[in-house]
Amino acid sequence: MGQEANIEKLKASLRRSLIRPGDDGYDAARKIYNGMIDRRPAYIVEAVDAADVIAAVNFGRDTGRTVAVRGGGHSGPGLGTVDKGLVIDLGRMKGVRVDPAGRTALVQGGSKWGDVDHATHAFGLATPSGFISTTGVGGLTLGGGIGYLARRFGLTIDNLIGADVVLADGRFVTASETENSDLLWALRGGGGNFGVVTSFEFRLHPVDTVYGGPMIWPLKCAPSRGATPARWIWRNGDSRRSAKTSARRQSTSPGRFPSRCSRASSTR
Ligand SMILES: Cc1cc2nc3c(=O)[nH]c(=O)nc-3n(C[C@H](O)[C@H](O)[C@H](O)COP(=O)(O)OP(=O)(O)OC[C@H]3O[C@@H](n4cnc5c(N)ncnc54)[C@H](O)[C@@H]3O)c2cc1C
Repeated sequence: MGQEANIEKLKASLRRSLIRPGDDGYDAARKIYNGMIDRRPAYIVEAVDAADVIAAVNFGRDTGRTVAVRGGGHSGPGLGTVDKGLVIDLGRMKGVRVDPAGRTALVQGGSKWGDVDHATHAFGLATPSGFISTTGVGGLTLGGGIGYLARRFGLTIDNLIGADVVLADGRFVTASETENSDLLWALRGGGGNFGVVTSFEFRLHPVDTVYGGPMIWPLKCAPSRGATPARWIWRNGDSRRSAKTSARRQSTSPGRFPSRCSRASSTR
């Protein structure tokens, strides 16, 4: 099949328009989080479901184009985009379905961690994610994933129990402990090289209201403040927990932080 015929076939398969250089919205569609990366893909598919992903993967393979998959777009070196190639942007695939009884969540491949936290928090549940809410579930999970809950519940990949994947040959497969378990093993830290993950399944844990977070203080206060949170966690919480979960656990009787860096001031 010729190039134009392949393009027409792709266009006819997609729910949204195929975006190409010169089209309205091209510059907005090619933009990623790292503003220093300025790549110009030849084609951008804004996928809304697995069918769009399959069509795009088949097009990329049949036309010999380099394919970049974009989840949350946070990759520092810009792995979610490519010059002259095909970008499969999953940013519209953001659904999250929580099973409160089974303590699991099905998360579409283009979701961000804020989407997941919002959906699971309603049930007093969470899975270990990253430190901020705008990072993509896709790239963070496939790279390992470390965040506030890691010391208590492990890395994100420790809680990945299943995935739906479109492989390079266009086949759609499910990976779990019982089905294609080698693929699940590879997805747990192998990066985005094993196919396009259209949905992830995570184990959830009981995590209620969290009011802690990063603690930031002026450098001059470091000698006194550095020791204070560690002492506070030791006194108030289980030593395996992060500051964040310890803070949650103690929500009825929070420990007290000194309001000023008095020791630092006195040693200045
Ligand atoms: C501000 C910021 C904060 C961060 N904080 C943390 C943190 O707290 N913890 C942590 O562990 N990491 C953190 N990171 C690193 C981050 O996890 C990686 O950059 C990750 O690759 C970003 O994933 P993404 O989906 O947003 O990026 P993208 O650029 O969209 O994708 C990154 C890579 O993953 C692949 N990919 C993405 N989604 C899929 C999918 N569904 N199927 C197949 N491949 C896919 C892409 O092809 C690409 O190779 C942070 C990065 C930034 C910029």
